[in-house]
Amino acid sequence: MIYLDNNATTQPSPRVVEAMLPYLTECYFNASATTASITGADRPRRDAAAALAALLNAEEPDCFIFTSGATESNNWVFSSVVRPARSGSVVVSSIEHASVSEPAARLSHVGVDVRVVGVDQQGLVLLDALRDQLCEDTVLVSIMAANNETGVLQPVREVGQLIRERCPAAIFHTDATQAVGKVEIDLQGDWKDVDLLSFSGHKIHGPKGIGGLYLRQGLELAPMIVGGGQEQGRRSGTINTPGLAGLAMAAIEAREFQFSALGGLRDAFEELLLVAFPDAVIHSGGAPRLPNTSFCSLAGVHGEDLMERLSIGGIIVGVGAACSSGAMRPSKTLQSMGIPYDVALGGLRISCSRYSSLEDVATLVEALKAIAGEVANGRM
Ligand code: PMP
Repeated sequence: MIYLDNNATTQPSPRVVEAMLPYLTECYFNASATTASITGADRPRRDAAAALAALLNAEEPDCFIFTSGATESNNWVFSSVVRPARSGSVVVSSIEHASVSEPAARLSHVGVDVRVVGVDQQGLVLLDALRDQLCEDTVLVSIMAANNETGVLQPVREVGQLIRERCPAAIFHTDATQAVGKVEIDLQGDWKDVDLLSFSGHKIHGPKGIGGLYLRQGLELAPMIVGGGQEQGRRSGTINTPGLAGLAMAAIEAREFQFSALGGLRDAFEELLLVAFPDAVIHSGGAPRLPNTSFCSLAGVHGEDLMERLSIGGIIVGVGAACSSGAMRPSKTLQSMGIPYDVALGGLRISCSRYSSLEDVATLVEALKAIAGEVANGRM
């Protein structure tokens, strides 16, 4: 199988699996038990916090609280930073992942002033519109670091500066699920204005069901999940030791791997595609993007049809459009960018990983050549 849908999830690396195994076999003990330092069950959490602090250049390992993944982290931010009874507005972008946009919509339904800032045709957040929406009573701004569909990298540093200028007390959250491990993140440098950052293990060759939230040193966030008092009372639930052992190794490996090298693969794919389909559209081709992601549309074909045909042939890619209640719904990101409806329906996402090769992307283009005509002539 050729797997080119790594923004959906990645293959756990052999070292990640190896690191997890002891915590599924002989060291199955509870990390919160008083005996944890003797059994060794307290080690994965410590290792994961240290590895993430090194990867993101955080002030200290204590800045990380671990959750079941980015969906939980994002929900936590929205459920705890903003209280419906309190005044204050929230600002989000129009291209956020559903785990941000839906909690934001829920706040809006209970009367919170939620302001949505659009993006330009390349998918970059409109900084002037953002400036207009920020005001003294803004309590939370949530702008993703990298879009899961287009791979567009938002100007986190500039967004942070705007927030500090216009509403210094507001909390700046970024959903960095797709950015962590793929681009350099420096929480004490260019990203110093970020207060909260969500991340997930399974996007960086770690296991599923583990992720977390970075909280800038000194920042307190009321817990969303209460009960056993784990994670210093900030996120209850028995600590996922195998998951954390895997996450620690994934973060160590992410630091070792030069992800930028993948840009060559993305660009090679796009060159081959444009030779085979001169009228193909590469979305956000003019914006800074993740080095592993290419989001394209072929004229007159539905991305979902292509995806289905490719998968039958053993090639797995992603799509932007989704079929719901029998009708096609184009990608929210492409719609926000003002991409025409029929082009947006064609959206096909190719996302590479360190296990992808030039041969993989070349085989994909050959397969597209073979099936695009058929798909365009009669929907399967
Ligand atoms: N945010 C973004 C940008 C994502 O791409 C994803 C995963 N598709 C999530 C959040 C949710 O992550 P998780 O699977 O860890 O809940």
